[in-house]
Amino acid sequence: MVSFNFGAGPAVLPGDILEQARAEAFNWQGSGMSLFEIPFGDPTFGAVMQTAHRALQQVLNLPDSHHLLFLQGGAYAHFAFVAMNLMGDKKRACYLDTGHWSKRAIAEASKYGEIVVDRIVADGAYCHMTTNETTQGRQFHELPDSQGLPLVADMTSDILTRPIDFSHMDLVYASAQKNIAPAGLSLVIMHEKLFDRALDITPTVFNYTLQARNNSRVNTPNLFGIYMAGLMAKWVTDQGGLPEMAKRSREKSAVLYETIDHSRFFHASVNGEMRSHVNVCFGLKDPALNELFLQQAQHEGLLNLNGHSAGAPLRASLYNALPRAGVVALADFIKRFDGQLAR
Ligand code: PLP
Repeated sequence: MVSFNFGAGPAVLPGDILEQARAEAFNWQGSGMSLFEIPFGDPTFGAVMQTAHRALQQVLNLPDSHHLLFLQGGAYAHFAFVAMNLMGDKKRACYLDTGHWSKRAIAEASKYGEIVVDRIVADGAYCHMTTNETTQGRQFHELPDSQGLPLVADMTSDILTRPIDFSHMDLVYASAQKNIAPAGLSLVIMHEKLFDRALDITPTVFNYTLQARNNSRVNTPNLFGIYMAGLMAKWVTDQGGLPEMAKRSREKSAVLYETIDHSRFFHASVNGEMRSHVNVCFGLKDPALNELFLQQAQHEGLLNLNGHSAGAPLRASLYNALPRAGVVALADFIKRFDGQLAR
């Protein structure tokens, strides 16, 4: 049976990338060494990093002012590291609270300075947003006006799904496990104007300036994750780049929202402009039926549709590697489930 993985993360990766990794990674260029065994000091290590770096820089269309770092920790760790790296002497920053992950970011950053929520103050060190709230299915489709403050964004769940104008973004960070690579890698993209602001307590390996000046090699990076990120960047480019990814995300989410809006027994949990193109959150009007829906969906090969405990009961994540056919199959199943309840 064909199955589709709608999980929010770690999420589905394109099959051809997995195939390529299987063919290449266990005997890297015929060296007899796998990609997991290449020593840190070997020129090959740097070459793999450089290839991935170039592919990502290209697909993201990064300006020369913006440095791309390969770090560890995951976005939850970077909630703290962002504050440590950017708070500087101001010890004050502005955060937009749009849901679960921005609340977590605020809680971590509060340990390192005063956080002003949903307001911009002129003496703030930066303004932080979560471009896509994975848990609530809420997405910014336009960047907010940060009124001259450096704009900082957690793009964990929508990086590589749409073009971003980095001339309006000063720092972006993302965990890899939704649209980039397996978990264990974080991308940080930083404008060099933000260098040299880190608090003294910042751990050396999470000092973004230091990592930028050392090509992300202050300590041993996750080479396999970086390699996979490079394959993903190339895959996106080959598919038509970020405008094409954005078009597909828009179309896939439109099919689902339309189906849910026209159903009798389901409802979408977000209405209006902030509907996410990558995490469609929904539920049955009678909550007692969500479990039955999940069971039957799994039976149909529609996997991991359960929502986050802090969000809607059902969620379909439509990242780049989830094909349109999966969305069509889910929409068809929602219609059949609706019909079954109406009988
Ligand atoms: N930020 C967002 C928007 C997320 O969706 C997630 C995880 O789903 C995180 C942060 C946390 O990522 P991690 O668990 O990799 O630290």
